[in-house]
Amino acid sequence: DNDLMEKLVSLSKRRGYVFQSSEIYGGTGSVWDYGPLGVELKRNVKDAWWRAMVHERDDIEGLDAAILMHPKVWEASGHVENFTDPLVECRNCHRRFRVDILLAETGAAEMEAARCPSCGKTGEWTEPRSFNLMFKTFMGPAEDSANVVYLRPETAQGIYVNFLNVQQSARQKIPFGIAQIGKAFRNEITPGNFTFRTREFEQMEMQFFVKPGSDEAFFEQWREARFKWHTDVLGLSPDRLRYHPHEKLAHYASAAGDVEFYFGGTIGDGGWGEIEGIHNRTDFDLKRHQEYSGKRLEYIDPAAGERYIPYIIETSVGADRATLAVLANAYREDVVDGETRVVLSIKPSLAPLKCGVFPLVKKDGMPDRATQIHEDLRRRGIPSFYDEAGAIGRRYRRQDEAGTPFCITVDGETMEQGTVTIRDRDTMEQSRIAQDQIPAFLAERLA
Ligand code: ATP
Repeated sequence: DNDLMEKLVSLSKRRGYVFQSSEIYGGTGSVWDYGPLGVELKRNVKDAWWRAMVHERDDIEGLDAAILMHPKVWEASGHVENFTDPLVECRNCHRRFRVDILLAETGAAEMEAARCPSCGKTGEWTEPRSFNLMFKTFMGPAEDSANVVYLRPETAQGIYVNFLNVQQSARQKIPFGIAQIGKAFRNEITPGNFTFRTREFEQMEMQFFVKPGSDEAFFEQWREARFKWHTDVLGLSPDRLRYHPHEKLAHYASAAGDVEFYFGGTIGDGGWGEIEGIHNRTDFDLKRHQEYSGKRLEYIDPAAGERYIPYIIETSVGADRATLAVLANAYREDVVDGETRVVLSIKPSLAPLKCGVFPLVKKDGMPDRATQIHEDLRRRGIPSFYDEAGAIGRRYRRQDEAGTPFCITVDGETMEQGTVTIRDRDTMEQSRIAQDQIPAFLAERLA
């Protein structure tokens, strides 16, 4: 299991999915950069979310709020006071850990029994102290406390403070939602596990505003809809997904649960890690913003002649965790002709490259014909990769590792009869089709 994360880290570097941030300087703690294939995969994940949450619905509007917000936002939200984790330090090696993660990862029931993952000593822990996870910086030239601002630790607050702007400008009626994708920052104490827990990450959040009293039904509805998205759209296998209701609720929530994916290794609870949280946040956030801003944040329903502060059902997915789940779900090794073949069986609709195009040999007009096919695909908006270097078997293997679902080869028959072979990444089966059928063949399978 631990193996899988290590294999993903090295495959990601080899094929250009993810690199360690500032690698030439020895890396930055728990910050990662997405390479040529990674940026495409993550973008496809975000686009799939945006399509399902915004474009395919009339009752959800998009938003892109700024990362820097008025510092009072974080007082109203409770983050200044509550966004803390209990932190302990190993007296022996002085490494620091978050209590809950340490207990989960070591399997210890209490701190006295927990072994330090860094030096191996058992039970030499300081008393837990609270540590706020928000990154601070200064706005303007004076670095004094009056000018402190925070990097947002979640995107949700940008939605709450714009609730009436969006509702009124888009002329929405309750129930309706606001969706946003953007960066969030948390000074995590126990980061690690590749891109599962990082200090800079992207969230895809949707806040659904409902009439008080209808919140429980909407919570259930969203819980089901969101769970289904992970299997149907991301293609995660159902036996690696579960829904985990929270026993302990955050200060703002009346009901909450997580969609968890089985990553294995030391992630989360026995390998099961949260990828999405669904929360009934009640009217906590809007009430607090009304109180702290002194501005009314009520919804006015002219038809019913009522005004009220709506309840909010939140769905919050990490774009990086969802992308990591897609990679972990896709990773396979099989043996072909006595050699290990590494394959990323990513759903074709999400794969960074859709197609490899190869001339069988570098002569007899094959490179020109293959280039034509490649350029035609590009013009049609189908990301394709032209490769003429090395044995054909090697070229297939490179695309298998990159997660490219189809490879088209131009050979002697292409030149004589106008047909090409199309090879399927997962089954390795090849079929022969007419060159002019390529776009239709791919369109059907990439939808
Ligand atoms: P955890 O308990 O793992 O710290 P959380 O419950 O604090 O997560 P939320 O505040 O509910 O997470 O955030 C919603 C989503 O944002 C999570 O489901 C996860 O996908 C993502 N996320 C949160 N923290 C991180 C992080 N440090 N790195 C990457 N993604 C994160």
